Amino acid sequence: MKNSTPMLRQYLEIKKNYPGTLLFFRLGDFYELFNDDAVIGARELNITLTARHKKTANPIPMCGVPHHAASGYISKLIKKGYRVAICEQTEDAAATKSIVKREVVRVITPGTAIDEQLLEKKEPVYLASVCGTDDVYGISYLELSTGEFFVTQIEGTDSWGKTCADIESYAPRELLFPNSLGKKVKENFKDFTKSNSVEQRDENVLLFKNDNNTSKFATTLTEIDEYLYASDECERTLHKQFEVKNLDGFGLNRKPEAIRAAGVCLHYAHQTQRATAQHIGGIKFFEASDSMILDAVTLRNLDIIESSNSAKSNKSTLLGVIDETVTGMGGRLLRSWLLRPSVKKTEISTRLSAVTELCDSMLRDKIRFLLKEVADLERLVGRLNLGTATPRDLLSLNRSLEKTPQINSTLSDAQSLLLQVLSENIFELNHVQDLISMAITDEPPSNINDGGTIKEGFHAELDEFREISRSAKQIIAGFESDEKQRTGISNLRIKFNNVFGYFIEVSKANAKRVPTDYERRQTLTNAERYTTPQLKEWEIKVLGADEKIGELETELFKEVRRQVTDETRKLQSTARALATLDALSSLAEVAVHRNYVLPELHDGDEIEIKAGRHPIVEAFMDESFIPNDLKMNNSSDRLLIITGANMGGKSTNLRQIALIQVLAQIGSYVPATFARLPIVDRIWTRVGASDDLASGRSTFMVEMTETATILHNSTPRSLILLDEIGRGTSTFDGLAIAWAVAEYLHNSPEHSAKTMFATHYHELTELAENLPGAKNYQLAAKEVDGEIVFLHKLEKGKASKSYGIAVAKLAGLPPQTIARANQVLQKLEQYELAVFKDNQIAKNENGLEKAVGQATKSKIASQVSLFAISNENIIDELRNLNTNELSDAEAKTILSELKRKII
Ligand code: ATP
Repeated sequence: MKNSTPMLRQYLEIKKNYPGTLLFFRLGDFYELFNDDAVIGARELNITLTARHKKTANPIPMCGVPHHAASGYISKLIKKGYRVAICEQTEDAAATKSIVKREVVRVITPGTAIDEQLLEKKEPVYLASVCGTDDVYGISYLELSTGEFFVTQIEGTDSWGKTCADIESYAPRELLFPNSLGKKVKENFKDFTKSNSVEQRDENVLLFKNDNNTSKFATTLTEIDEYLYASDECERTLHKQFEVKNLDGFGLNRKPEAIRAAGVCLHYAHQTQRATAQHIGGIKFFEASDSMILDAVTLRNLDIIESSNSAKSNKSTLLGVIDETVTGMGGRLLRSWLLRPSVKKTEISTRLSAVTELCDSMLRDKIRFLLKEVADLERLVGRLNLGTATPRDLLSLNRSLEKTPQINSTLSDAQSLLLQVLSENIFELNHVQDLISMAITDEPPSNINDGGTIKEGFHAELDEFREISRSAKQIIAGFESDEKQRTGISNLRIKFNNVFGYFIEVSKANAKRVPTDYERRQTLTNAERYTTPQLKEWEIKVLGADEKIGELETELFKEVRRQVTDETRKLQSTARALATLDALSSLAEVAVHRNYVLPELHDGDEIEIKAGRHPIVEAFMDESFIPNDLKMNNSSDRLLIITGANMGGKSTNLRQIALIQVLAQIGSYVPATFARLPIVDRIWTRVGASDDLASGRSTFMVEMTETATILHNSTPRSLILLDEIGRGTSTFDGLAIAWAVAEYLHNSPEHSAKTMFATHYHELTELAENLPGAKNYQLAAKEVDGEIVFLHKLEKGKASKSYGIAVAKLAGLPPQTIARANQVLQKLEQYELAVFKDNQIAKNENGLEKAVGQATKSKIASQVSLFAISNENIIDELRNLNTNELSDAEAKTILSELKRKII
């Protein structure tokens, strides 16, 4: 930087150590940003970009925000995916003649932000870290606000693809990776961000955008120096944090990549917070197969957490429908259950019995009433351990703990095992309650520095100083009336400010009447300010006592906080138990109000649902939802081909089965009158069309890539939903692919998952007639007086038509377009019939060839030009005409007749 001044040199020196962050540099009452940081800051915060040394040849771009309003600006930047380093003045400007010392005191990054204004109540914020080589990768996730920490290691075929899918499903706000993975990470994460339509802002920040073009959330890609990923160092970090000698107890035996990923995550959290973060008391190793896998595409397709339709609110999701939790921690837990439903039958049935017991309204209402008074203890414990808990946090901790005896006594008669276990894990912690109520005032300030946090009677020395301060203040107050009397100046006032301390203020008009022992301190336009030796003496006492009070209060508060922090493990256990109770009560609340039924889970493979409903569609529909039955298994009914009119309800039906299965596996009742369900290891979905142009994948390519993944990876315990396959290419190619895919899923023993295949290729219904495990179902519609009526009823059998034109009419296509479409359709059908008659293939007994026969017609019909098809007969007629034999009049009549036939 040219034009260097000592201050700018100091700035550059500090900035050098914080690459990739926006450095907020404290200058008096402002935080200033310089150079590129200033350009980004001004743009993102919409503030004026100015310059230092404006008039020189090398002006330095600069912008600033007032320090008292900084947190709002910082939040804005963090939400946009930037990292911010806060550099403060660390010595009193008055105490030094040279340049004041400055230091970075905190780094705030998207993945480590814990300020309440940056957190959504019911959403976790994950910091992820990934590392590894070509075939083994470790990924760890840390939720710093609560201390939740988990890790996995992925090996074998397509391990990188699986790693990316895992990261994507947690949607971390920030991803750490070593230099060696830089290229791969940047390539891949652009990939998945692109599917949300990404805008690349600057090198390190990718913004996800939804269709409304408003940013949803961002993943900040943070490259970490390779040496920090060194195994020894990472292992040491984890040992120290968990106070253990080896990590086997956490399931990390022979998991080197998992250890490296976790070590860096933790190190980064320490670095940014400058705190030990003792609430991170352990780490959980998980394998993908520990829970039902729902990849990011499936989560979206099924509207589980976020709506696939960006125009709809996030209420119209499965989470939106079933989330009746009353605490933030309960909400987050329920959300995590939906992201990773259980595959353990005992765990599911334990939850289900608890939900059943909570269906009793007396019990549930009482618990929910008490839970409403409980704070977000998980995050509160986090703030305690990160040293940011305020006096008000301690009070709300106390109010929450006060509820625990009542909650435990409400649960004392509980029959279900889970409720009993929860009760055992809810601690009353009387000594913590006593300490807080003895130490903290009933209405403490939000900031400890404002004074008045510690109660009278808690600490003798503090009480003494308070007494001194109080009596000195009283004496000063008395001094005012004494002086009024002595001087005879009635408007004489004793006042206080931070610069001059106590002073006597007298209006200009009375200035000449002041006694000689008054020393002038300041002259204002209308008044003079004085002090006296006596006033100075009292002032020293008051200020001395007040300073001591401030110091003592801070010290005592920190000590109380430390003592409370000693109970971190019991507080975390209580928080977890209360969150679980909240999530279970929410499921019971929904079960009762929405009329759900207890599902029966079994070890077999059959799905049997009676009167099943789609939980989200049902919740947002004005008319009543039409329930449907379903039976599937891995033998006679493993491939269901579902045909029916457009708008008939195929997609709804497919999704409803999946959602019922997900609900059951989180331990929820389900929207049906009866449900007998297996445990599913994964739900696969291939739905609709979306392209990924940015990474060079067309609509059809995306569709085929997704299909390929399903064919390679599904197992007999999976549930596959195929909502149209092969629509993005020519009719013949598409049908051929759809046919082969269905056949493969049916025949391949290791992949023969239960599959529901909704399609408008009616030819596929032939499959069911030949494959023993395939069945045809239709969602019937009928035409009444030319209008289409949807029955939304799933029945055995195949639909003959798609009623596409009728639905297009409903959608408001212009009448002439509809009329013309009907005309073309009629001609196509006539032509198809003609070809069909000539086509002997139709006689063939084999299903495939029979279908190919039909498909041939379709191909010819669709791919030969329409003009040629519909006018073929006319051309034939013209060809057969013997013009020599026609009179002029006859020729004219024939010509006009032919002309009429042309379309
Ligand atoms: P397309 O072939 O055109 O994609 P589809 O057969 O997949 O259509 P859906 O999208 O599932 O049809 O359903 C269309 C609409 O019908 C839904 O938005 C829903 O409002 C309604 N619907 C579907 N199933 C039912 C039902 N069982 N009861 C009541 N309404 C339903």
